[in-house]
Amino acid sequence: MLGLFWEFHGGVRLNRHKELSSEQPLAVAPIPKQLIYPLQQRGGRNAEPLVAVGDTVLKGQVIAQDSHPLSAPIHAASSGVVTAIESRAIPHPSGLDDVCIVIDTDGEDRAVRFRSLKDFRRSKVPTLRQRIQDAGIVGMGGAAFPTSAKLNTGGRAIDLLVLNGAECEPYITCDDCLLRSWPERVLGGAAILMRVIGVERCIVAVEADMPEAAKALEAVRIRDGYEHVEIVKVPSKYPTGGEKQLIQVLTGREVPVRGIPADVGVVCQNVGTAAAVYAAVTEGKPLIERIVTVTGPGIAQPQNVLARIGTPIAELTAFCGGYTPQAQRLVMGGPMMGLALPSDELPVIKSTNCILVADLAAMGGEKQPMPCIRCGACAEACPVNLVPQQLYWHSRTDQLKKAQNYNLFDCIECGCCDYVCPSQIPLVQYFRAAKGRILAKQGEQRKAEHARLRFEARQNRKEQEKREKAEAMARKKAALEQAQAAAAATASAPTDKEQS
Ligand code: SF4
Ligand code: SF4
Repeated sequence: MLGLFWEFHGGVRLNRHKELSSEQPLAVAPIPKQLIYPLQQRGGRNAEPLVAVGDTVLKGQVIAQDSHPLSAPIHAASSGVVTAIESRAIPHPSGLDDVCIVIDTDGEDRAVRFRSLKDFRRSKVPTLRQRIQDAGIVGMGGAAFPTSAKLNTGGRAIDLLVLNGAECEPYITCDDCLLRSWPERVLGGAAILMRVIGVERCIVAVEADMPEAAKALEAVRIRDGYEHVEIVKVPSKYPTGGEKQLIQVLTGREVPVRGIPADVGVVCQNVGTAAAVYAAVTEGKPLIERIVTVTGPGIAQPQNVLARIGTPIAELTAFCGGYTPQAQRLVMGGPMMGLALPSDELPVIKSTNCILVADLAAMGGEKQPMPCIRCGACAEACPVNLVPQQLYWHSRTDQLKKAQNYNLFDCIECGCCDYVCPSQIPLVQYFRAAKGRILAKQGEQRKAEHARLRFEARQNRKEQEKREKAEAMARKKAALEQAQAAAAATASAPTDKEQS
């Protein structure tokens, strides 16, 4: 299970705090009073509401959908009544509000009929793909990109499926918990995904310090005869769990900077995604729940919780004993790459792997930035070979073109550079802000270009109309002149009388 690994450049060793949540058994959260569904689920395109205020809905019912391939349907996680479809704050990096469907649950948990498909080995591949699409499955490692779209590899030759269970953020243990609790679902999902992609080899990667997860997987692998699946323990270095870094560690293949894993013959899915695929295919169950790690010094009973998607975070933290006096920050995800949340009224979405209730120390302490001393430590730590100090300089001085020339948009915002910087410069903050300014500018330029094209089209249309009008006038005039000439000719011709 441990073997030869390839190294990726950079990365850091982080202090781990996984014991906070990993030592408790998986808990099941009760039905919340309210479920909230942002139509924007972080990745992919927004879905369109299929319900109206006042509608009664059942558990598993599709409440929002769009026909675009980059959109995943959204399903109600319990029965109740739609009480609002309105703009609210959502857990999204944009920080902008978006439309949410709000359901007041009735506590009865009445469900639609889930159609199971027991023997997936005999099912046709298009049927399996359709099931994955209909179940609204997205990447559950954080990106939330629709899985059915990711399985479409555009005709590239694929020879390997990688299931990513390498949780490298220091507080998150939901994948570890999933692998220990339901290894058969993960390996069942692997078998379905292998069939859909058409590959004969799969690696399930777990971190070296997840021995129980590896053991549980290995036992099922042998028991159920998954001979084409390897369970591999990868070294605990951050960010090994990044898709591109993991593929490099496992195979030595380097995914091109702006490429995707399929470019090097690999499809990579999170282990949670594989388990969701298994449930969708064998039970007909859409993605309506997931395991969430609720942890950090600010929560009374850190643990992993099976929560319904749409559950307000406040209900989840209350279920975990409420906040402690240390609670200072609320983060969705881990301290390195997580999203700071403005309030606990926001809901769990499909990509919510962790709710971290942090104190300042958990977030790296209060920073007192000092001038850059050009030590180069940030460049050594950068897993995508960028030069963060240069990016920092250009971002700080608003030289956005130069920042782009230094490949600002290749930055995965992993925070390794921040972590090692002796001058405590919040580098990622600068990079995010610079990206935001560039995107805003590009948006403005696109708008201006759009307006220019519209103006030109209107001018052309006007010119054309003018030309057509002039041509019509000319034709009319010519016809009139012709008619007049004919009339004159008739008038001047001698009559029969005159001739006689
Ligand atoms: S690690 Fe910090 S101080 Fe050192 S070069 Fe990078 S930005 Fe400058
Ligand atoms: S945050 Fe960006 S620049 Fe910094 S180490 Fe990560 S990828 Fe490199």
